[in-house]
Amino acid sequence: MFQRDVAEGIHRIEDAGLPTSGPSLEDALEKLGRGFSDVPAIALTHAHFDHLGIAERARRELGVPVWVHENDAPLTKQPRQYVHERARLFYVTRQFRAAPIVASLLGSRAWWPEPVKEVKRYTNGTLPGPGSPEVVFTPGHTLGH
Ligand SMILES: [Zn+2]
Repeated sequence: MFQRDVAEGIHRIEDAGLPTSGPSLEDALEKLGRGFSDVPAIALTHAHFDHLGIAERARRELGVPVWVHENDAPLTKQPRQYVHERARLFYVTRQFRAAPIVASLLGSRAWWPEPVKEVKRYTNGTLPGPGSPEVVFTPGHTLGH
């Protein structure tokens, strides 16, 4: 799903963090009259496995820099090895309610993201690039969220 201008100049692409999101990103860019070559960078809000999507592919094939908070940089190399907020048993006991989400993640291959081989690290301040997005550090969900 694509939503244009959720805020001025900001567009929303649902599930953009999944490995299968290439076509939805391409579709959204086409609706904006743009292409992959117009994407100057990827900024990860955090580096959980289901947020890496096509980051490595874009970096490798298009030369797009991938920005991540310095605390989450190690997670981009080993996306599924992170400190969990709760014991995994907590999620297993709620598996029934989570089944549609788990199935969706399995179907989109989100659990097997390609590690990002090279990242640019940010801390606080603003990121270089269009709109100079401001970093709002909110650790908790991950160390670098
Ligand atoms: Zn997350």
